Amino acid sequence: MKYYILHYYYVAPKGDSGETLGQVLDLSNACPTCGTGTKLVGGLLVTGLNNVKKDFFATEAQDYLISKKLYDIFQNANILFETSQVVNKKGEFLDFYHLKSNYTFPKMLPQSKGFKIGLLNQCKNCKRDNYLGDLVWDSKKKANMIVPFQLSFEVEDKRFLDQSDIFQTWEYWGKSTMKFLRGNPMFGRPSLIVNERIKQIFEEQKIKNAFFDEVIIL
Ligand SMILES: [Zn+2]
Repeated sequence: MKYYILHYYYVAPKGDSGETLGQVLDLSNACPTCGTGTKLVGGLLVTGLNNVKKDFFATEAQDYLISKKLYDIFQNANILFETSQVVNKKGEFLDFYHLKSNYTFPKMLPQSKGFKIGLLNQCKNCKRDNYLGDLVWDSKKKANMIVPFQLSFEVEDKRFLDQSDIFQTWEYWGKSTMKFLRGNPMFGRPSLIVNERIKQIFEEQKIKNAFFDEVIIL
């Protein structure tokens, strides 16, 4: 089975979500300094999704959402995944589902490439936040292109991989801080690692702006 980092790239995010909107949070297992590892209480709180028609997209906060249609396809294909239906500020459930995982990969191996670390600002306590994607100038396309990840992991007990079709990285992308706007925190997000079953569904459904960087698992 092959595994991939799932990305949503090159188009603007849709709506926003999570802690900056006042999401109720469970900090019991989170880093006390930066909040990395915080769990959501209840469904992901979202805003600005009224006119979104996509089957897969990221919000401004980089939460990855799928449509009811794609959710049903996952269910019918017996995909093993954690999800919850998203909710608006009035407490109403919307027809989008938050892609996430309770299964965290081990730390990336040192030979991993395609990213950088915001060294000066990484949380001194957990060193788990502020991983950043990298860009390279493509003179043919005259645009900044995202460098593909080449991430390697050592999974000692391969039975770990049988528990889900979607995993998350230990590393969180973006800076985490407990004090952002209006007293709310703001956290980085882990990347999602999906297997080839998920990739196949995305390809069959011709999902746009989804990119898959294969990971190496030792
Ligand atoms: Zn921390």
